[in-house]
Amino acid sequence: MTLAVTIVPVTQYQQNCSIVKCQATGKAAIVDPGGDIEKILAAVEQMDAQVEKILLTHGHMDHCAASDVLRQRLQIPIEGPEEGDRFWIDKLPEWCQMANFPHADAFEPDRWLKDGETVTVGEAQFQVIHCPGHTPGHVVFLHTPQKLAWVGDVIFAGSIGRTDFPMGNHDDLINSIREKLFPLGDDIQFIPGHGPDSTFGRERASNPFVADTRFG
Ligand SMILES: [Zn+2]
Repeated sequence: MTLAVTIVPVTQYQQNCSIVKCQATGKAAIVDPGGDIEKILAAVEQMDAQVEKILLTHGHMDHCAASDVLRQRLQIPIEGPEEGDRFWIDKLPEWCQMANFPHADAFEPDRWLKDGETVTVGEAQFQVIHCPGHTPGHVVFLHTPQKLAWVGDVIFAGSIGRTDFPMGNHDDLINSIREKLFPLGDDIQFIPGHGPDSTFGRERASNPFVADTRFG
């Protein structure tokens, strides 16, 4: 296996922060560090990983609120999400306050991502897939060789992301899942932002929101 992955549930929302390590180089990325920095760093140490970057799927606080502090502490860049989520990250302090969430400052990622681009972790490559709907700038990371995807809050085992937030769009979300993710293959396993993992094939068969049977 090219990648080693440790999932660390963080924040009061039990968000699945992942540490993704390239086995060949020992280099790693932290995907969606929403909080609980000490827990994340303990997992990094346990994996004997050398963190080289932070990857963000979208700008919600439970996915990105610890990014800037980690960036400064580890001297590493933040890549993602797509720029449509700038307004979420700009308003991070307000959102945190409203949700009674630990304070986070607004920040500027070092690299906004676009659909079709590639991000790297050590020697491993990940395809960037822009999947708007839950948020306008949401991205998914796909590691094709290991058939593994990080989908943030686009789709969950048995559910889909909320679209009742500002700039959320239900039709966009369904399109992202059915037109961009499902065609990648039934055997792609995904790690969602919350709850257990699943595969696109399983959701295609049984997810009450996006199953094939609903779309004839
Ligand atoms: Zn979210």
